[in-house]
Amino acid sequence: MELGVPDIVKWFDFANKKIQHHKDYLSALDRPIGDGDHGINMARGCKEAINKIMTKNYAEPSEVIKDVAMALLAKVGGASGPLYGTAFLKMSMAVKGYEVLSLSTLANGMEAALAGLKQRGKSDIGEKTLIDVWSPMGDYISTGEISSDGLIELARDALETSKDTMATKGRAAYFKEKSIGHIDPGSASSFYIFEALAEVIKEKE
Ligand code: ADP
Ligand code: MG
Repeated sequence: MELGVPDIVKWFDFANKKIQHHKDYLSALDRPIGDGDHGINMARGCKEAINKIMTKNYAEPSEVIKDVAMALLAKVGGASGPLYGTAFLKMSMAVKGYEVLSLSTLANGMEAALAGLKQRGKSDIGEKTLIDVWSPMGDYISTGEISSDGLIELARDALETSKDTMATKGRAAYFKEKSIGHIDPGSASSFYIFEALAEVIKEKE
């Protein structure tokens, strides 16, 4: 399996459509354990990213990912903007120089993105943040044996698990034990991003 420029553009196109579609749901998730703006933030940033990449020609996937990163950094805001921006910037740097991304190159990109998230968020897995989705996704992709169904199933499991954990980072951490039982909004937006990736991969299976 290899992902070229059109596939990566399609990834973000699908992801943007999902984020726009679930914008109100993402903000609703952010209401009980945050400030209710996650859907608005993500929808604004993703729209900017899509406007940028749909009107340009690219020689390699890393350039697409970099433009997405810069748009998210500039437009999402909140805690999640710098986090997503950093993740995709680190990913783009890790896959620079490849015209198409093999699964192992994508795995390197995921590893770099995850390291960026942890560093930027001063956080780790199990703190009820989007890292709880990115981490198992990275692990799965690095096995080198993946399927689109497997990706979606694992992302959904990770999202469900985020419900049962107590937040120790971000706004949700102020709610302490009361954060338990709520889905983490950032994990939900990340779920849509990986569901979009799975749909691109499914078309190639
Ligand atoms: P804000 O919290 O500033 O309103 P958003 O609502 O856009 O920003 O994003 C909230 C999401 O960001 C959370 O659901 C969580 O997944 C993620 N997040 C917040 N703080 C951190 C952190 N320190 N490390 C990793 N992820 C975080
Ligand atoms: Mg918020």
